[in-house]
Amino acid sequence: MLNRRVRTLLQGLVGIVLCWAAAGFALAQETDSPRAAAAQFRVWVMSDPHVGTDIEYERESLADAIRQSESGGDLGGPPFEWDIALLLGDFAGGFGVPSDAEGEEVVRQFGALEQHRREDIYSIAGNHDATVHTEPLQWWFRKWVDPAGENADSSGVDSAARKFAIDGSWERYSFRVGNLLFLMMSDRNDLPPPVGRGPVNAAQEIGGYPAGAVTGETFSWWQNMVERNADSIIVTGHHHMLKETTTASGPWEGFTRAADGSWRALYHGFNPGGAPEGASYLYFVDDKPDAQAFEGLLADSPGAIDLWLGAHTHLRPERETGGRRFLEHKWGVYFINAAALSRYHNPLVVPPSSRLLTFTDGSDQVRVQFYLHSNDYYYQGWYEPAETTLTLSKPFHLND
Ligand SMILES: [Zn+2]
Repeated sequence: MLNRRVRTLLQGLVGIVLCWAAAGFALAQETDSPRAAAAQFRVWVMSDPHVGTDIEYERESLADAIRQSESGGDLGGPPFEWDIALLLGDFAGGFGVPSDAEGEEVVRQFGALEQHRREDIYSIAGNHDATVHTEPLQWWFRKWVDPAGENADSSGVDSAARKFAIDGSWERYSFRVGNLLFLMMSDRNDLPPPVGRGPVNAAQEIGGYPAGAVTGETFSWWQNMVERNADSIIVTGHHHMLKETTTASGPWEGFTRAADGSWRALYHGFNPGGAPEGASYLYFVDDKPDAQAFEGLLADSPGAIDLWLGAHTHLRPERETGGRRFLEHKWGVYFINAAALSRYHNPLVVPPSSRLLTFTDGSDQVRVQFYLHSNDYYYQGWYEPAETTLTLSKPFHLND
């Protein structure tokens, strides 16, 4: 009798468990079906691989990040899905004009892509990628990184293979994904000194010029695109952040003082002739220093764009300088610093990191996640304390 009771009880329990399992399965099926789950669009934002610097330490800053995203990291970092990636400049690591050897290394590291095409990545030039004004215009970036596909033989970029075609040139271009409009602007550190790098003394030494620069034409293009596309969710990509938005983007905040009071490199190298005041932000428009053209427009038209994605100032998640961190909200715009994939470029080791933005069809919420590519700061993978959800000016529509 006891046995029968136990058996009945067991049968009952098994039945309940089976019911739960079936219900769970049905639920799982429902959420996995395309109709039930809203489509997501994932934008991986990364920057500053400085491949020539890290390779000296036998670290493949760009290829490692790509492998981690597609297959997971060697220290336990999980792989993650992404639809497109933005790579916001500073492929090169040196302080002079980058070499063809470094360009070949950049292309070799892009070769780590297995589940994505090279054309899924949208790039712009950073200050380190610049040539000098006496050479063919930005030849290195155009030859080896080549967002416009001008030099497919060397860069391997086939414009026709872009899922989202670009409109424009290596210097400035746009592309659309549903009602997302991306406006991408390269840095112009190739303009003559003091705006950009170039021979700074009789010995023809080339200066390092971390301050950001674009031309007036690029600003006008951006302004025009912003004004004509008020019904879009506008995402701007540039190597630099705007003035006084995120970590260390204020005047002189790129450096620290040594004990004797002299300036010492911190986020950026100190170069007295290279506009050090503006080393960590977009400082020049043409040859006008501290131009603040973008800042002025956004102050006058809050929310004119939704997101400004930049990099340049390498940081760890909690790093705060000038009372600002890697993600800030100002003038109705979210500013996100995505730097950096490099571990060795700065005088101090900075934990390599990138960001993942997840847009959901029909939703005005965008999830921002912080990925650590090493375990210098915390475990490799998602750093949850830095994760957040932002509210866009309008819902994202993938098919708009
Ligand atoms: Zn930079």
